Amino acid sequence: MTERDEAETEGNSANPLLNTEFRVPFDQIRAEHVEPAAEGVLDRGNRRIEEISSDTRPPSWDTVMAPLDELSLEVSERLGPIGHLVAVAETPELREAYNAVLPAITTFWSRLELHPGIWARVKAYAATDEADTLDPVRRRHLDKTVRAFRRAGADLPDDERTELESLKVELAKLEQAFAENVLDETADFQHVVRDEDELRGIPESARRRFRRSAEARDIEGDAWLITLDYPAVEAILKYAENRELRKHVHTSYMTRCRGGDYDNRGLMLEILALRDRLAGMLGFEEYPDYRLEERMAGTGRAARAFERELADRTRPYWEADVADLREHAAELGLDELRPWDVSFVTERLRKARFDLEDEDLRPYFPLEQVMDGLFEVVERVFGFSITPAENEAVWHEDVRYYEIHDEEGVHRGSFYSDWFPRPEKRQGAWMNHFRTGGPRADGGFDPHLGVICGNFTPADGDAPALLTHREVQTIFHEFGHLLHHCTSDVSLRAVAGINVAWDFVELPSQIMENWTLEREALDLFARHWESGDALPDELFERMQRARRFMGGWAQMRQISLGSVDLDLHTEFAPAATDADEEELMAFIRARMLPFSPAPEFAQAQSFTAFTHLFSGGYAAGYYSYLWAEVLDADAFTRFRSEGVFDPDVGRDYVRSILSRGDSAPPEDLFREFMGRDPDPEALIERNLGPAAA
Ligand SMILES: [Zn+2]
Repeated sequence: MTERDEAETEGNSANPLLNTEFRVPFDQIRAEHVEPAAEGVLDRGNRRIEEISSDTRPPSWDTVMAPLDELSLEVSERLGPIGHLVAVAETPELREAYNAVLPAITTFWSRLELHPGIWARVKAYAATDEADTLDPVRRRHLDKTVRAFRRAGADLPDDERTELESLKVELAKLEQAFAENVLDETADFQHVVRDEDELRGIPESARRRFRRSAEARDIEGDAWLITLDYPAVEAILKYAENRELRKHVHTSYMTRCRGGDYDNRGLMLEILALRDRLAGMLGFEEYPDYRLEERMAGTGRAARAFERELADRTRPYWEADVADLREHAAELGLDELRPWDVSFVTERLRKARFDLEDEDLRPYFPLEQVMDGLFEVVERVFGFSITPAENEAVWHEDVRYYEIHDEEGVHRGSFYSDWFPRPEKRQGAWMNHFRTGGPRADGGFDPHLGVICGNFTPADGDAPALLTHREVQTIFHEFGHLLHHCTSDVSLRAVAGINVAWDFVELPSQIMENWTLEREALDLFARHWESGDALPDELFERMQRARRFMGGWAQMRQISLGSVDLDLHTEFAPAATDADEEELMAFIRARMLPFSPAPEFAQAQSFTAFTHLFSGGYAAGYYSYLWAEVLDADAFTRFRSEGVFDPDVGRDYVRSILSRGDSAPPEDLFREFMGRDPDPEALIERNLGPAAA
């Protein structure tokens, strides 16, 4: 550290965002701290970039890679708490301050990614003898860093790099326009119901929402307003007995942005063509190869083979489900199964066979009891003990703080939990991290720091906060991400914890969900909050059977979307410039056909409103949902066969996967734990059951 830097840190120490203590002083951070902190951190970061790139010493790990990593870690750790507070405790002032610094933060990262001086130093270092003899972890990190620069276009001649940058800007604009069209067309739709009989079968809670929507839009008289937001669509498709209403809502939903004022077809052609061009400029044969280079799948070919194999194995179950749906549709008096009947028939069938409501299970899952059960599972299986600690310096009184210790008593990490909704908190459930620790050179251990958040129904009167089974799974899931971060044992922080391939990162989270379906584990925490009774066997049985219900149908749907995503980016994209809207739609229809009970099902697909693929991060990556499920179902088979509480398997899992971050290729970590490559059989068994008759 130079003298000037020290003086600066000292001068800024009144700003809690620049505090370097382990615990972030969240209770002291105010909107007015955001701009000066971001400015200071980014200035210092930019100065470090210049220092590293103009260093005249011979390139070495210590003069290139170490300072580069340190710089990235420092910027993200200092600025991370701002984004977190925007998510959990947003005020208009904080939002404004955050928006004011966001462009500078984005610019900082994209500049670093393409900085010619840094790239020259990294490249020079990669060519040294020292780089050749690096240990495998550092070598892997160096290779990834080199690839990151190449992928950003750092190696292209100036004119091509300029083209690449403008191409990326153009793509971002098109993707944004795609998403806006979806939002606008969704918001534009309204169907006003005047006769309540039209809403036959729809639950009271949904009708009340429709009523409130009508009031909100000042629709006169006795009226219910149906919109195309997902909860409304779901309520209609699952429960409306009026088939015409289902057809109208389904068709409107599926054909959003397929023509009219918000037509996305032209944008899709442009997006596909530009993505193909981008991959070509960077030397990839096809866009999926570019997208998947840093993923476990590795290539588009591997992802396609994965989808094909899973499709073949799922098909018999899917066919059985289709037959089941058709038969039940006939029993319900429907002449034939149409696309807008599927959810409705499914729900009727579910009710007839299992009669299981979310609410039946809630009394057995009080939140605190679930957390204690989760901690006990973690202690027994993985050997980490979790203890509550002082809730100081937190952002809200609901927040709890815990410490994680290993069997030797070493403090491995700490975390916050924040489980209840507030107006200033965002929706959903997630995990985030603030400090990345790890083994120190002196033999000690720097602990990690993270957070898990959710939005569960809070305590009501005498009753504690009670969860649905899905919410119990959510807690286990997010806790899996947290453990991945907080138990990381990688000394090179750039590749520690959750910094792993996108299609591998859900393994440590999803595997935790398995324990919520095991009788032995449920016995630890599923007890009635009033009577203390264990979850009745009969309820447990129904839960198990309901889990696989229509599994073949659901899984085939995921496979179809993942396959068509890859087909579009591989086969259609290279010719997209010369194709027209009709050809695009015909291509999608043709590729959906093998996954459709009848041709009209292939027609009724919402690709023109599929933001995951055309404005989100899932382009050529939709397969990864199922990919990660295959991994977690397969890895869990070792626990199933050797014991769900078996400490040896648990410790083995910690050693080979959980604590390893991205220190080795994910397929190697998996192989180390399982002794072989992933096998989809376990997923088939879990989602679909024994072979279909
Ligand atoms: Zn997750």
